[in-house]
Amino acid sequence: MCLICKPDRASVIKKVRILAEAHSGLEVTPENYLKACLELFDLWFYQKDFSIQVNPGFGVVRLLLSQSRLSDCIMSENCQMHFISVSPEGDVYPCNRFYGFDEYKYGNIVKDNFEKLLENPKRQYLLKRNASEIEKCKQCSISRYCHGGCIHHALVHYGSFSSPDHLCIVYQGIVEHAVKRLNHELKKHLDPLKKER
Ligand code: SF4
Ligand code: SF4
Repeated sequence: MCLICKPDRASVIKKVRILAEAHSGLEVTPENYLKACLELFDLWFYQKDFSIQVNPGFGVVRLLLSQSRLSDCIMSENCQMHFISVSPEGDVYPCNRFYGFDEYKYGNIVKDNFEKLLENPKRQYLLKRNASEIEKCKQCSISRYCHGGCIHHALVHYGSFSSPDHLCIVYQGIVEHAVKRLNHELKKHLDPLKKER
C-alpha cells in the first residue's frame, strides 16, 4: 500500500500542531468564518451590477442554478478531476496546500511526462474519494453540492481522506443561505407576473 493510501497521520498532525501553536489565537473559528462568508455573500448578491464575482457567493449560486458539477474546487465532485498545482520548482501536487508534503507529490512537470503525472497512483487514489463512501456525508442534505469538501481539510483535521471536511457548518450554512436568498428573489419577481395573468 502506498503512503498516500495510508497517510503518515502522525507526521501530518505533528506539522499541523506546530503551525497551530505558532499561530495560536489567530485562527478563525468555523462559526466566525461562516458569519463572514454570509456577510460577503449578501454584499455580492445585492450589488447593483454583477461585474465582480465573489466567492463563495458566486460559485454556490451558479452551482445551485445550473446543478453543474463544477463550482470551485471544494464544491466540485472531486477536485483532482479539475485541479493540480505546480510549485515554482515544477513539482506537481494535488493542490498548493500539499506543498512540502513530499509523500503527496505526483512528480515534476519539467522532468516527467504530463500524462504519466496524471496517471500517478496517488492521483488515481484521490480520484476515488467519494462522498457516498464517507459516513457523515451519506446523511448530509448538501452532499450533492459539497461532495465531502476538501481533501486537505479531511487529512489535516481527521488524518484520513475518507473523512469529511471539518467545515460542514460553513458549507451547509452558505448553501442554506443561498437557497433562501434565491427563493426570496424568485418569489419577488414571479408574484407580479402571476397577478398579470
Ligand atoms: S457538509 Fe460536511 S457532511 Fe456534508 S457533504 Fe460536506 S463534508 Fe460531507
Ligand atoms: S485540496 Fe482542497 S483546496 Fe486543494 S484543490 Fe482540493 S478541495 Fe481545493
